[in-house]
Amino acid sequence: MTAIRGATTVNCDTPEEIKGAVKELLQTIKEKNNLSLCDIVCVMLSNTADIHSYYPAKAAREAGFDGCALYSSSEPLIDGALPLCIRVMVLCDSHFKPSYVYLRGAAKLRKDITEPLVVALDGPAGSGKSTAAKALAKHFNILYLDTGAMYRACALKCLNCGVKIEENTVKPVIENINLKIEYEDGRQVTILDGKDVSEDIRRPEVSDMASRVSALPCVRQKMVEMQRKIASSMSCVVDGRDIGTNVLPDAEHKFYVTASVQVRATRRYLENKAKGFDTPYETVEAEIAARDKRDMEREVAPLKMAEDATLVDTSDMTAEQAVQYIIDKIQEKI
Ligand code: C5P
Repeated sequence: MTAIRGATTVNCDTPEEIKGAVKELLQTIKEKNNLSLCDIVCVMLSNTADIHSYYPAKAAREAGFDGCALYSSSEPLIDGALPLCIRVMVLCDSHFKPSYVYLRGAAKLRKDITEPLVVALDGPAGSGKSTAAKALAKHFNILYLDTGAMYRACALKCLNCGVKIEENTVKPVIENINLKIEYEDGRQVTILDGKDVSEDIRRPEVSDMASRVSALPCVRQKMVEMQRKIASSMSCVVDGRDIGTNVLPDAEHKFYVTASVQVRATRRYLENKAKGFDTPYETVEAEIAARDKRDMEREVAPLKMAEDATLVDTSDMTAEQAVQYIIDKIQEKI
């Protein structure tokens, strides 16, 4: 006897979604394990308590799995459980090494047997990409890597050293930079020369300097190396300017998040105000426009949308809507 485990998720609790997800799950299990219907003794399904509209066992029968014993049950309501999830155990008569199948959102249930989830979010300042990246990382329970923080730390280092912003003067500073990215309760902590600079790097003059130093090849080379190392070891959401085009060109999920300059400047103005930086709106808008220009027109890895990225214009979206839109697009692929 062999037991094959699997799971999938639905986007919403409708009969059509449940029928489609169960069919896809069982057919994938059948294909991946080279089974014919007569090998299957029984199919046991369970669904999370937020699924009511259709019996998964009925969906299995309708999908052609009708020659074996079928059973489905509802799971208890558990806090923090992956929502809208359908699990399955398929029992087969013969003995073999099973291939487990975790599809759609359920892939995160078994990170050990599924491909790492890598989401690349690029876009200009104030587009809402870091808010979206944080929410996505929380949703999928994976790491969030804020690459802008790394360029900001380089900028802070240059400001502290008072170095002229040119390749040959910045190079020795960046080659020996003592920069560490750590995580505390899921929050990224940026450590420069042994000091937590996570707050300092958000100062407006650091923002401006970041877009200057990040145009230098020596800075990009060093930071991209560090970013690839962090991102290669685990599932993560990475945000920046060149993630989909340059840092992680093979990322399966790429988004280009943007919004009009006015909307972005208003967001940044309000954020600054909340943090106690009283920069006039006109100045914020001019700074954002100048940063856009520098980031988009620089020679090395300029900000641009990857050909295979999905465009997300957040000008008329709330943060929640933008996040949900991105989650839906990711779910369609996994
Ligand atoms: O995203 P954030 O505004 O924190 O980034 C600060 C600056 O760092 C950007 O204006 C950009 O010049 C630079 N940056 C970059 N490449 C990245 C991330 C940020 O050039 N991947």
